[in-house]
Amino acid sequence: MEATVFFNTPQHSYLFDASNKAFLYAHPLWKVFKTLEDQEVSAEDWEERIKSSAPELYEQYQVDFPYYMKKFLFLKEQGFFQKLPVERVISELKSEQVDSALNDIHQIVFEVTNRCNLSCKYCGYGELYSNYDIREGVDLSVAKGKKVLDYFIARWKQHPPRSYKREMFVSFYGGEPLLNMSFIKEMVAYVEQYFPKEINFQFSMTSNCVLLQKNMDFLAEKNFHLLISLDGDEQAQSYRVNHAGINSFALIIPQIKALKENYPDYFRERVQFNAVIHNRNTPEGVLDFVMREFDKTPRISELNDSGINPEKVDEFFKTFQNISVSLEKAKHRERTEQAYFIELPKVRGLGIFTTRYTDNYLRTYDEFFLSTNYQRLYSTGTCIPFSKKTFVTSTGKIYPCERIGEDIPLGSVDETNGLQIDRESIVAFYNTFLSKITDLCNRCYRLSSCSSCMFYFKDIQHPVCEDYLNRNGFEQYLSDYMQLLENEPHLQARIREEVTFS
Ligand code: SF4
Ligand code: SF4
Repeated sequence: MEATVFFNTPQHSYLFDASNKAFLYAHPLWKVFKTLEDQEVSAEDWEERIKSSAPELYEQYQVDFPYYMKKFLFLKEQGFFQKLPVERVISELKSEQVDSALNDIHQIVFEVTNRCNLSCKYCGYGELYSNYDIREGVDLSVAKGKKVLDYFIARWKQHPPRSYKREMFVSFYGGEPLLNMSFIKEMVAYVEQYFPKEINFQFSMTSNCVLLQKNMDFLAEKNFHLLISLDGDEQAQSYRVNHAGINSFALIIPQIKALKENYPDYFRERVQFNAVIHNRNTPEGVLDFVMREFDKTPRISELNDSGINPEKVDEFFKTFQNISVSLEKAKHRERTEQAYFIELPKVRGLGIFTTRYTDNYLRTYDEFFLSTNYQRLYSTGTCIPFSKKTFVTSTGKIYPCERIGEDIPLGSVDETNGLQIDRESIVAFYNTFLSKITDLCNRCYRLSSCSSCMFYFKDIQHPVCEDYLNRNGFEQYLSDYMQLLENEPHLQARIREEVTFS
């Protein structure tokens, strides 16, 4: 594969060089020089060759020819215009990496219960999806929860956290977590009593707020980060219904207002809103409502399109609404986009583009000490298991996050044996997958910005990647984002100031 890719926008010609992580304006002659080089034509003969094979081009740039040839050869000396290594990908996970991720765990998420007091039409555990275990109304037991915490507390005794006051979240997720408040209170007390002082723990929760009022004192006292699921005004909220099919709007809005009134500082600092965008709301409408009622900018998300129930595909796409498309139709588009800045797909895409393909950003401290030469990357965008979080389901299964289906747990917890994570079998499972996709990833131009998680592949045993990018596709990708930078350079300045990428 070529390290240097030439591409155009309507305004300019550029090259991107992966070895140097650099973008340059590219003189049109350079692409021709590169082609001649590939044909093993000696540099002394380039001028004659171009004169005879492309006389118009030669005539146009005759005066510039010596200068741009010299510059091309100079860049070549600096490592431009090379081939990328055939083996670009690290395709083997090691058990030490899993160990290290567990020692440095950033977040433990408990699925406190899989019961819910609502029955949202688009719920990931509802009829639109088919990749989850049947919900049998199970609460996670306190004994299992304590065993999970014991596992990490014991690990930290052997491997103390590497940084003092390391941030860590203990999070409560559902179902509706407030339905199992006794579990939450026990876990909070256990964390406060037994977590080492080196860990700066914080609590977080996502809630539908049906039971907010009677629990708000505790949440405020423990300074919970609270993410409220609310899709907007009454019509927008109409997919979020109780088991009798009644809209939850009238039930929850007074409770959220009571929280705001009773704990104004807490509400301002720690409470956020998340709205799912669907065919009964718009990002603009949600923004107007949440700003007006609660003086907050909500987060927005789309319906998850993984694991759709084959019998409900039509219904899913009737309900689904693409955020970018919806924003284009906003009445006050500029104001809406300004407010949602970090949420905008184009901003996320541009952030990935500039952090992954330029040398202006370091993703880890280690990169300070690496040369700028091309580094080997892990194939696919799958995280090292547990490097982001540990997710414990209400039935005691262990996953690397809550966003993946429930087919393939990486461990389990029970009252007798505690938390069981077999690192060797996890490594074997991941490596079997990686061995099947590595060849493709080695040839893929998306590798540096790949975010394809293995758990989202349709058939994990026989992976086919729908995101594979060939050279033409990559030229188009580079062109799209460079055009965005040409037309809206202020986006990059704001990304630099406001956005954190993990
Ligand atoms: S979706 Fe995949 S890559 Fe993302 S956190 Fe979960 S397991 Fe890791
Ligand atoms: S997009 Fe697909 S083929 Fe390309 S690196 Fe990612 S997983 Fe591999």
